[in-house]
Amino acid sequence: MLTHTTHPTQPYIGRFAPSPSGSLHFGSLIAALGSYLRARSLGGKWLVRIEDIDPPREVAGAADDILRTLEAYGLEWDDTLLYQSQRTEVYQTTIDTLLSQDKAYFCRCPRKLIQEEMSGIYDGRCHQLMPKHTQGAVRIVNHAGVAEFTDTIMGKIRVESAFAAEDFIIKRSDGLYAYQLAVVLDDAHQGITEVVRGFDLIEASCRQLSLYQTLGLKAPEWLHLPLACLTPGFKLSKQNHAQAIDTHKPQQSLHAALAFLGQPKVENDANVANMIAQAVAQFDVNAIPRQGEILIAN
Ligand code: GLU
Repeated sequence: MLTHTTHPTQPYIGRFAPSPSGSLHFGSLIAALGSYLRARSLGGKWLVRIEDIDPPREVAGAADDILRTLEAYGLEWDDTLLYQSQRTEVYQTTIDTLLSQDKAYFCRCPRKLIQEEMSGIYDGRCHQLMPKHTQGAVRIVNHAGVAEFTDTIMGKIRVESAFAAEDFIIKRSDGLYAYQLAVVLDDAHQGITEVVRGFDLIEASCRQLSLYQTLGLKAPEWLHLPLACLTPGFKLSKQNHAQAIDTHKPQQSLHAALAFLGQPKVENDANVANMIAQAVAQFDVNAIPRQGEILIAN
């Protein structure tokens, strides 16, 4: 049986970390529900973190809308919400330290140059410069170059090695902190023991594992859920205008999400909390389909 085995004495802490770029849709419900059921079925905590570090992509009111939707679906979180926009000092201090230790460097290569001269994978040339740039994007020196990890349900996952070895960006040239850095610092800060999220983030998981090594932080475990796709290779997303899920009658989407995750049926109930409680009691991590994506009807 697959269970949470690596830290048997450590209480389980899971999380859901939406970006406030739109309302929750069926795809994000899968990530919220999957991470919630996993955490609660193990008697663990479930935290919610709002990943609001990319103002140009943010939609006004989306963070509150997401939180009200989680409540309407009976997904109650523990502790206080964490907003990444309140953590920028920690991100900057970490970047300053990495720069001072030559574990990160400024890069001024335009994306076009990386596409044309380096086939899209950055070759680290700004790290060799003398003197070095003192502004631009900040890249991590990716010594660890993690290309594989073991997923709780999917087993060994490998990503392309050139991609895995790339010195990737941890702060953008426009001054915004990169998702990879923020998510690692916050998951470590919140003591997350297992990250449950969509299969589209397996490459991100490798990059994040590299960062855990460079920063000397203890990495969590990983459980990637299948993605809901309308056509092969196209996940439901805010970018392709996936429909917001119904907050007034959550029952139908909840049944569909449980079925998507391979979970046993629950009884329909006007009180959605009862449905969630039953889903927690019946949750079977081994029943989650071991697939990167699943096609759903529109
Ligand atoms: N904020 C990311 C998103 O909404 C998810 C990050 C994660 O779960 O690590 O796509």
